[in-house]
Amino acid sequence: MNTKKILFVSYTAVLGGGELCLLDFAQAYRDSSEVLLLTDGALKNRLEDLEVKVKVLQASRSLADVKVSSGLASLKSIGDLWRLGKQIAQKSKDFDLIHANNQKGFVVSAIARLFGGAPVVWHLHDILTADIFSPTNRRIAVTLANWFATRVIVNSQATGEAFIAAGGKRQLLRTVYNGFSGEKFDCIDDRQTTLREELGIPRDRNLIGMFSRLSYWKGQHILLEAASTLPDVHVLLVGDALFGEAEYTEKLKNIAAQESLQGRVHWLGFRQDIPQLMKACDAIAHCSTAPEPFGRVIVEAQLAKRPAIATIGGGTNEIIENRITGLLIPPNDPRLLAEAMREVFSNRDFTSQMVETAYGQAKTKFSIPSVCMAFEMAIAGI
Ligand code: UDP
Repeated sequence: MNTKKILFVSYTAVLGGGELCLLDFAQAYRDSSEVLLLTDGALKNRLEDLEVKVKVLQASRSLADVKVSSGLASLKSIGDLWRLGKQIAQKSKDFDLIHANNQKGFVVSAIARLFGGAPVVWHLHDILTADIFSPTNRRIAVTLANWFATRVIVNSQATGEAFIAAGGKRQLLRTVYNGFSGEKFDCIDDRQTTLREELGIPRDRNLIGMFSRLSYWKGQHILLEAASTLPDVHVLLVGDALFGEAEYTEKLKNIAAQESLQGRVHWLGFRQDIPQLMKACDAIAHCSTAPEPFGRVIVEAQLAKRPAIATIGGGTNEIIENRITGLLIPPNDPRLLAEAMREVFSNRDFTSQMVETAYGQAKTKFSIPSVCMAFEMAIAGI
């Protein structure tokens, strides 16, 4: 049993990959720990369903509007950060450590440390590169980490390397992969036909799924462009624009409306029944246009025994060995993605061998017990 008393702090409560990862660790430590959310949202209900103690310490509107990249601009928001930091410092007195699950959560936890709060572990789920984070953002994050974090847990070695390249101290780092319950996939019938029937997808057509929030860097447009050249392929888009990327959604709808794709793109929005939906697909695509910090969807595809086609770079390379446990392709290349799709749909022997190998790896390397053990080691001695 895990006995460390952890105060988990998360700024965001929408269900992105980092928050889904938090669910597993918070559940593992639920007997001794508590989650503090700085905004209200779906994560709260999911934690409560798992019987994790959770409290919302509402951050003010001005803090919600702050992008760390803007240099923590307004004075009002700095006042809010201070106020929250003090509150968290006070609360953390009953805990062994604060686990900060995202960047704003880490900033307030670092301030809490200034006010005598418990030691802070920052769980970094992002690759701190220029593609996504401004220089100011990276400087603030890394400086605070070097000064105030006792450990920095990263979700892949790639995330760790980017942290060091941005000036972070190597000795702070511990790598802990995301964990997954294989049983959630094993208990689902291998052939889910209901969804295909509901969507009117003929039996002899292939269905490729993408399970990501709708966002340019996730690259749904690359999949649609690839599919437009393969008339027998249907596309399932699962996910929503979680962080207000409405313009990108519009762009995707326009691409899907073009004649070559008509009737072949199916939108499901945000869903929780990922194992069922994956089992209804013939392949899963992961088309990130910039290196993916981890890539939960790839492991889920492997557990569902569906071939994963993913873009090279970042944490993806730690999950897929090319042509052994999935297919790796360069980013931003619809032509090569279409070729990879053609191969997994036509070369059935190769595909079934690959999915079996991937399944075996995913079940051991990314099991909940093995990542919880890595987590326990990462916080040992604090
Ligand atoms: N996901 C989900 N519902 C959706 C779309 C995605 O639960 O409608 C899940 C998906 O199964 C995966 C996570 O969201 O577990 C996304 O994690 P990933 O590492 O792929 O990307 P991130 O959102 O962290 O950038």
